[in-house]
Amino acid sequence: MTRSPSTDTTLPDDLGPAFVTALQGALEDAAPALGDLDRRAGDGDFGDNVRTAMKNLARELESAEPEDYRGWVTAMSRAWLGVGGTSGPLFGMFYRDLAKAAGDGEAPDLGALAEALEAGQAVIQKYGEAEVGDRTMVDALAPAVVALREAAQAGKAPAEALAAAEQAAIEAARGTAELTARRGRASYVGETAKGVMDPGACAMGLVVGALRVAVEADGGEVAADWIE
Ligand code: ADP
Ligand code: MG
Repeated sequence: MTRSPSTDTTLPDDLGPAFVTALQGALEDAAPALGDLDRRAGDGDFGDNVRTAMKNLARELESAEPEDYRGWVTAMSRAWLGVGGTSGPLFGMFYRDLAKAAGDGEAPDLGALAEALEAGQAVIQKYGEAEVGDRTMVDALAPAVVALREAAQAGKAPAEALAAAEQAAIEAARGTAELTARRGRASYVGETAKGVMDPGACAMGLVVGALRVAVEADGGEVAADWIE
């Protein structure tokens, strides 16, 4: 038997608020670095787009505190749908699918979260038409989805599974520095993007990092010191 039936795949009840607030803090802190990457290898607006999304999020959370996982992640979706650029609608649709992981009022279990992340990847690729290797957020998300699915199938505990997914996302985001953009406005600068990580892929690394923090007991802060 390869799977341990006793492994508890339940995720914490407070997954929604823990994930969204960890990500909010990480994106606010990383906005200058993400903007800098987009200036060096894009059109320079990504930092402002992240800031606008986080302002929208704060407004969403102030107007009514979400009640459950779905509500929290939906607030993040709405926040991004109100942002321009290519990333706004793509992240908005991604979080809308991530929010669907849970039934009413419940946090998803690990398998449902993995499936929702996969659905989020599919919607980004459907509308953005980027493949792995095109130097986009998909490059960080795709290997995280694979790592999460494999860890879940191997019966790993949620914290361990998400730590593996975060590592996969960070490694792949770092790898985007070697890629030439074929999507988004970074594609206009072509080879000058070499050596600079893709900011959307870095942001996606923070997303998976925030999931890890939300699931781990004493998960600490989202690691962002690798973004430079
Ligand atoms: P824009 O490229 O329109 O200036 P942003 O600056 O808001 O958009 O976001 C840039 C990020 O969006 C890129 O770093 C990349 O990860 C992601 N991105 C751009 N185009 C696509 C696409 N077609 N599919 C997936 N992700 C994309
Ligand atoms: Mg841009």
